[in-house]
Amino acid sequence: MTTLDNASSSAANDVIIVGGGLAGLFCALKLSPRPVTVISAAPLGEGASSAWAQGGIAAAVAEGDSAEAHAADTVAVGGGIVDEDVALGLAREAGARIHDLLAYGVPFDRDLEGKLAVGREAAHSARRIVHVQGDMAGKAIIAALVEAVRKTPSIRVIEGYVAEALLTDNNEVTGLQVRKTGDVTATPVAIASSTVVLATGGIGHLYAVTTNPAEASGLGLAIAARVGATIADPEFVQFHPTAIMVGRDPAPLATEALRGEGATLVNSKGERFMLALNPLAELAPRDIVARGVFAEIAAGRGAFLDATQALGERFAQKFPTVYASCMAAGIDPAKQPIPVAPAAHYHMGGIAVDKQGRTSIKGLWAGGEVSSTGAHGANRLASNSLLEAVVYAARIAEDIDGQTFSAPRLTRLIVPENTAMPATAEADLRTMMSSHVGVIRDGDHLADAIRTFASLEQAAANTALRNMATTALIVAASAWARRESRGAHFRSDYPAEDPAQKKRTMTTLDQARQIAAELAEPSLKKRSLGA
Ligand SMILES: Cc1cc2nc3c(=O)[nH]c(=O)nc-3n(C[C@H](O)[C@H](O)[C@H](O)COP(=O)(O)OP(=O)(O)OC[C@H]3O[C@@H](n4cnc5c(N)ncnc54)[C@H](O)[C@@H]3O)c2cc1C
Repeated sequence: MTTLDNASSSAANDVIIVGGGLAGLFCALKLSPRPVTVISAAPLGEGASSAWAQGGIAAAVAEGDSAEAHAADTVAVGGGIVDEDVALGLAREAGARIHDLLAYGVPFDRDLEGKLAVGREAAHSARRIVHVQGDMAGKAIIAALVEAVRKTPSIRVIEGYVAEALLTDNNEVTGLQVRKTGDVTATPVAIASSTVVLATGGIGHLYAVTTNPAEASGLGLAIAARVGATIADPEFVQFHPTAIMVGRDPAPLATEALRGEGATLVNSKGERFMLALNPLAELAPRDIVARGVFAEIAAGRGAFLDATQALGERFAQKFPTVYASCMAAGIDPAKQPIPVAPAAHYHMGGIAVDKQGRTSIKGLWAGGEVSSTGAHGANRLASNSLLEAVVYAARIAEDIDGQTFSAPRLTRLIVPENTAMPATAEADLRTMMSSHVGVIRDGDHLADAIRTFASLEQAAANTALRNMATTALIVAASAWARRESRGAHFRSDYPAEDPAQKKRTMTTLDQARQIAAELAEPSLKKRSLGA
């Protein structure tokens, strides 16, 4: 493994890619033989949502399917604000990117005739999910790409370093500041580069209940926002309705297929609460089920997935992964209902990018979940996120390759005071995100969260905590400003869609701070998260 001893050890004009998930690794491979440095907070293959993807990649590669049909499905679930051109572009490039992945060694499942096997997922009008060994897509894709990256001499990999600040001069990238993962006292290191690609994944770990790894804590979004990058649609966070509540962080998933097999959602009194909420009951769209589960828990009645009738003794054989997660926590799902809760799963919003993945900062690109391309609108269509990661990673590589860059020059290293994170600060922030900026939101709770996160992002003496608070503030402020309900964003004080607000959000950290300043009320007791 390459290490970073000091600033001068950094390669002169490398492209710096931050993130070792699908978007980062694919971009690095596409840029080869151009010299690239990949920086990852965790060792490659770990700490990335990509490796945990179970479904697969949406691609209209089957006979009778078309890019137009795929794009139409993407638009239909996106709450009216999907950029249709972007959705069509994604769908059209899917086949070519799947072939790239095959060339990098990904063993996608094939049918008896040797054609790519495609599965079906909710809200797709055709079978179009390309997968590996059933539910092993993410693991297999990342294993193949890590191997390809390790064999590519033009790619330098630096593992175990967290990007904590972007260095800029006059709205132009000049470098990146990184620090050894988990070592608050380590001296930060600056890497000079005029070309940085952020591929740092999502924000799930900002919530107390999430399916995402701890590295998905919104740091990439924060460091871009702190240098003034435009952020798009941050209020749109997708929650998975049935994470298993057995005290694990991140929470294991009880797959939607369980409800497809007839498992029901009940409260502690055994009542099927979804029957009263939607004609489709447990099979209603993901956001409706998530709200039903959330409301039942908030009312103190609890929520459980009951497969004892639908599956009973067949559970272990049909759903071995879920079975193992439950049994490890002392719950036998063949005989007992499984405690569940909604979990933050995917961020539709992110750093605003154009069709080449360019951000509003010169020399800064963003790809994968940290970016917002306009493809997902207010709600993501299943299995479109891995697709977006590869399509935009390839476009970013092509865009970077076509340009000449000025020699990198380092500006001042930002060395903020860095102290250990106060004991409960991160847990407090995550709890507040879940309770105040979660599945069901309202103006008062959002305002409370905004005030808390605004003071934390100004005052926190720990860099990671400050960056987490920055992203939390932007999400909360945009959720507060969108006074309607649309897609995954639900406001109990504005429960209907408002046609006048049928547009994407484009915002900045300054705007979020401005909202916080307007909401500041000295008389209100501010919470302290250890700032
Ligand atoms: C359980 C689960 C199942 C899913 N199933 C599917 C599916 O079937 N199909 C689908 O399309 N999508 C699925 N998704 C969503 C999809 O996996 C992600 O959206 C996608 O993998 C994101 O890829 P990425 O490369 O942008 O980020 P990631 O794969 O999360 O990679 C981010 C990388 O950045 C690193 N990093 C983060 N912050 C920093 C920092 N500050 N400095 C340095 N490095 C940093 C991380 O360590 C990691 O290497 C699923 C997600 C989860 C959690």
